[in-house]
Amino acid sequence: GAAVRLVGVSKRYADHQPPAVDDVHLEIGAGEFMTLLGPSGSGKSTTLNMIAGFERLTAGDIIIDGVRVASLPPYKRDLGMVFQHYALFPHMTVAQNVAFPLEQRNVGRPEARRRVADVLELVGLEHLGDRLPGQISGGQAQRVALARAVVFEPHVLLMDEPLGALDKKMREQLQGEIARMHRELGITFVFVTHDQEEALALSDRIAVFDRGRIAQVDTPRELYARP
Ligand code: ADP
Ligand code: ADP
Repeated sequence: GAAVRLVGVSKRYADHQPPAVDDVHLEIGAGEFMTLLGPSGSGKSTTLNMIAGFERLTAGDIIIDGVRVASLPPYKRDLGMVFQHYALFPHMTVAQNVAFPLEQRNVGRPEARRRVADVLELVGLEHLGDRLPGQISGGQAQRVALARAVVFEPHVLLMDEPLGALDKKMREQLQGEIARMHRELGITFVFVTHDQEEALALSDRIAVFDRGRIAQVDTPRELYARP
């Protein structure tokens, strides 16, 4: 079944502007790696933010794991989110940052400690738990953000240009890590990028955005074969 369903989803920020997202229909399968690809301003982030619950819909419905989520705040949706600029708490250590979603959900301390250790190992940062965000590299910070986004075992991970702030070498490394995380966790990934190569390398399917609409949804192979 579908992990995430968008049904006629539209977003209009202002009456005198064209809609940022215009009647989007999309079904994202459980465990699928789906990429929203398109140029700047085509509505990818707005779509992701509506799935996350950061933006209200003007029209349509979003269904996550069979639940209509329109009235649910972000933290009650079964998803983790990673942003371009990490958004780590600067005064908290790496381990405390990763533990934060567990504390919000009242997970007990022994269980929290175990899970934090597990996800730090998943992203290869088990040795940096006591550092502050200001004492690690950008690539490491994005790994911490990834660990924090999956530590409470959501069924869906949303990523908005997670590699966009990194240099080329880091980007290639992180791309490999994200592919490996997808294989190991087996959960649904929804990934936003304007970089076609990134999309082709990572995705099971790609939804191509154009001026607020989805122009096509295809596998990388199908997309690549087209003129
Ligand atoms: P993308 O992620 O593809 O770059 P966005 O979803 O950010 O596209 O933007 C789609 C359109 O919506 C753009 O025209 C953008 O200027 C507009 N937009 C995005 N966020 C806001 C906002 N908070 N207020 C008003 N307009 C916005
Ligand atoms: P406090 O300052 O309240 O004692 P800690 O820094 O000890 O908080 O831990 C905050 C959270 O981070 C806790 O949930 C703890 O389990 C987790 N944590 C801290 N350090 C580690 C670590 N090295 N490995 C795993 N989890 C850790």
